[in-house]
Amino acid sequence: MTVLPEKILSDLIRIDSTNPPGNETTVALYLKNLFAEAGIDSEIIEPEQGRGTLIVRIGSGPKKLLYMAHSDVVPAGDGWDFDPFSGEIKNGIVHGRGALDCKDLVAAQVSAALQLVEEKTPLRGELIISTMADEEKGGHLGAGYLAAKHLDKVRADFAVNEGAEQPIEVNGRLIYFLQVGEKGTAWSTLKARGRAGHGSVPTLADNAVVKMARAVSRLNNYRAEVVLIPEVEKLLRSLAELCGIAIDSLGPNEVDSLLEVLPLDKALLESLRSMTRMTVSPNMIKGGTKTNIVPDYCEAEVDIRVLPGQDCDYVEKELRLIISKEIEIEFNEYQPPTFSDSGESFFKLMEEITLQLAGGDAVCLPVISTGGTDSKFFRGAGIPAYGIGHMARDFDQQTRTTIHGRNERIDIASLHLKTAFLKELARRYLG
Ligand SMILES: [Zn+2]
Repeated sequence: MTVLPEKILSDLIRIDSTNPPGNETTVALYLKNLFAEAGIDSEIIEPEQGRGTLIVRIGSGPKKLLYMAHSDVVPAGDGWDFDPFSGEIKNGIVHGRGALDCKDLVAAQVSAALQLVEEKTPLRGELIISTMADEEKGGHLGAGYLAAKHLDKVRADFAVNEGAEQPIEVNGRLIYFLQVGEKGTAWSTLKARGRAGHGSVPTLADNAVVKMARAVSRLNNYRAEVVLIPEVEKLLRSLAELCGIAIDSLGPNEVDSLLEVLPLDKALLESLRSMTRMTVSPNMIKGGTKTNIVPDYCEAEVDIRVLPGQDCDYVEKELRLIISKEIEIEFNEYQPPTFSDSGESFFKLMEEITLQLAGGDAVCLPVISTGGTDSKFFRGAGIPAYGIGHMARDFDQQTRTTIHGRNERIDIASLHLKTAFLKELARRYLG
């Protein structure tokens, strides 16, 4: 009997896999059992106790398709109108933490795979399902571990993961997104040094906090160069056209004026702005020890997100244009942007199936993420990865803000759409 995705999702929500600490093995064991009931073997990889990632293989043959999703969730926090771990199904909605990020995708991938098995769909290739630990804390015990130590177990021609924005409606037309890439990170620490002194005679000392305040204020006013990568250019042109805005030419110089007139939701507009330039956000500052001591040291943590072609040298060069030489710049973590080709026939197949299932006059557009997902580990290892965020027509728009927030939930229609998409994609690619 078909195991419906809403049943799987409801069960998964009731398994608390809040990270930290994670306890993703409990999710992996639940899924292992589900596959065992269908006569399918699976494997759990556990780099640390309790931090398991599940790998299942269905079918055999030279073609390989990887369906990946993460099994951990962020802490629920307070202020919910229902129990975040109830998994309650009511009025066509599944309720709880992880319903949209990303146990919905786990449930849809698993349900699609089980349906293919149950219907004895002939596959001339392998469908690999991997439910990975630790995404919400960087993925180093999940996707990162697999990419580093067990890449052969998940090596595939293509991977499908989370990562795209949910669909939007423009002039009555539903727009679906397929994520093809992610910006990189260049997290940095800035250090200001001064000379300590008595707080009652500040002019005799040299205040490091004041120096840093100046630097942070300049960072806030930084205007990054606009960079238009082909996928984002296509996205902007298509959105303009759908909004009825005629554009003759669209180069980096025209991007900001286009963003001024596009009648879109503020959150999407600001995402588009971030997709077209490096962003610099000073998010933590530490300095000083006592009210009456002029501080001789201050440091700030800066979240910097980069586009293709923007390495640490580029970032340093840009920062040096605006902050003084006195401030030291240190890079703590650099992860390059990762991209997959939107010209691939597999991408076109994803577009085709999306439109076929969405019906009407829906549109499908490539998008890039301003943040990161587990896809970066596999793109970095040569496996093209694409992100989806498919939701059904008429899905509850309020749910957009519930990811990592309060009252997270998903409608069953959207869950069924995701499942149907994944089932059809596996059937067509591997069939
Ligand atoms: Zn996620």
